[in-house]
Amino acid sequence: MNVCTYIAYTKKSSTFAVSNRTKHRQRKNTHMKEINASDFPKEVLEGGKVVLDFYSTECPPCEALAPKFESMAELYGEKIKFLKIFRQGNRELAAQLGVSSSPTLLFFDNGQQILDTISGGIKKSEIMDRLDKMISPEEVKTIKSRMKPVISEYDVAILGAGPAGLTAGLYLGQAKINTVIIDPALPGGYMGITHQVSNYPGFDQPQNGYMLAHYMSEQTKQTGIDFKVAVDVSSVDLVKKEIVIDQLETIRAKKIIISTGTSPNTMNAPGENEFKGKGISYCATCDAKYYVDKEVIVIGGGNSAVEEALFITKFASKVTMVHQFDALTANQTAIEHLKANDRISVLYSHEPRKFEKRADKMVATLENLKTKELFELDADGVFVFIGFKANTSVLGSVVPELDQWGYIKTDEDRRTSLPDVFAIGDIVSKKYRQITTAVADGTVAAMTISKEM
Ligand SMILES: Cc1cc2nc3c(=O)[nH]c(=O)nc-3n(C[C@H](O)[C@H](O)[C@H](O)COP(=O)(O)OP(=O)(O)OC[C@H]3O[C@@H](n4cnc5c(N)ncnc54)[C@H](O)[C@@H]3O)c2cc1C
Repeated sequence: MNVCTYIAYTKKSSTFAVSNRTKHRQRKNTHMKEINASDFPKEVLEGGKVVLDFYSTECPPCEALAPKFESMAELYGEKIKFLKIFRQGNRELAAQLGVSSSPTLLFFDNGQQILDTISGGIKKSEIMDRLDKMISPEEVKTIKSRMKPVISEYDVAILGAGPAGLTAGLYLGQAKINTVIIDPALPGGYMGITHQVSNYPGFDQPQNGYMLAHYMSEQTKQTGIDFKVAVDVSSVDLVKKEIVIDQLETIRAKKIIISTGTSPNTMNAPGENEFKGKGISYCATCDAKYYVDKEVIVIGGGNSAVEEALFITKFASKVTMVHQFDALTANQTAIEHLKANDRISVLYSHEPRKFEKRADKMVATLENLKTKELFELDADGVFVFIGFKANTSVLGSVVPELDQWGYIKTDEDRRTSLPDVFAIGDIVSKKYRQITTAVADGTVAAMTISKEM
């Protein structure tokens, strides 16, 4: 879907619905400017102190960065020039500057590239740290003196605006409970980056994940609860029930709902981030059906990798598993099923080193760990199953009781071991993690809270 159709879909304009490219054209921020490759020599190389944002469309981290970049431009714009450049339209320049993912921020002073570049889910504090290094301590002091601390009070603070948090917000908002929902990204969680969701009830056709995320967040917004999204979550204190965002605003709540979800374990191989959701997938239930009669690489060799590889063979004609050890670490039954399946072969003692896309094919560079030999293997898609980890490290020093895998234990009302702290969605210790189960958890916690307040 291109940007125009995307906007046509969402006539009621919202921060989430309008891509940052369009927002950029619409807003008048006198300290920020959009450039093209032809402007680069004048605007950047002869431009004094410059921060340059390479962004793309249909890029949730770019959309999350846009409001942070704008607010930084308001603060630092008299000292530093804030420029944006559309990566897809200026590919050659991006390649020359070594930009291979979106968004990427580059810093320049008098034509020289300075400091390190930052990419992906960029925090406001990461940008500020670098901007502070570009100007004098006195100028930093003046800018910081304009930032006034704020304290906000709520009945309920929801940490995480994925489907679990949005649903809790919907129910609490409809119950007229003073609620805020906080997320370092834009609303939607994993749902927002899933290209097609075909198992969410109520739709006879598969839905684009970001549209489902949009419908869900608009419905919740209409209840009037506060959204504080695309912010830095600076600290969380679950005992005092205080959350500090952007190092400036302290949010105090009577109850906290944790819905911060999980993060997939990553391989740290070049290309992984770039092709996430564009050839590299972390969910077979969701994506295997798009590989009918196609060839697929599966990275991993534990229970989930073997079980998911078996599931993928319902669709794909050939699955090559790439496993770092010389034997699978899955349970014996799963291994026997795998051995009986002639669509699956396993490359033992191999690890991925790089991912590229050539024409329609994903090309993985693999290393044979025994011989150190590198070679290329191509396929139609790559699935990664090297585990997920619960996002609990963001919850401060006192966290609720966890299970042995690091997920939060709850009772059936989704109460945790800490008073007035609830947990919902994928972060909860449970068997099945889907949008429907996240939505169900959000409902249960919000209804429990509504009865208590
Ligand atoms: C690639 C992929 C495809 C999938 N496809 C499907 C599918 O087709 N159908 C299906 O039913 N399920 C699918 N799933 C599973 C489904 O997306 C999840 O079960 C569901 O999104 C969980 O919802 P959640 O709200 O618990 O967490 P998430 O969706 O993970 O949302 C968590 C939110 O918390 C935010 N957060 C993180 N840290 C903080 C912090 N410190 N403070 C505040 N907020 C924070 C994140 O930014 C995020 O927005 C898929 C999962 C993946 C990974």
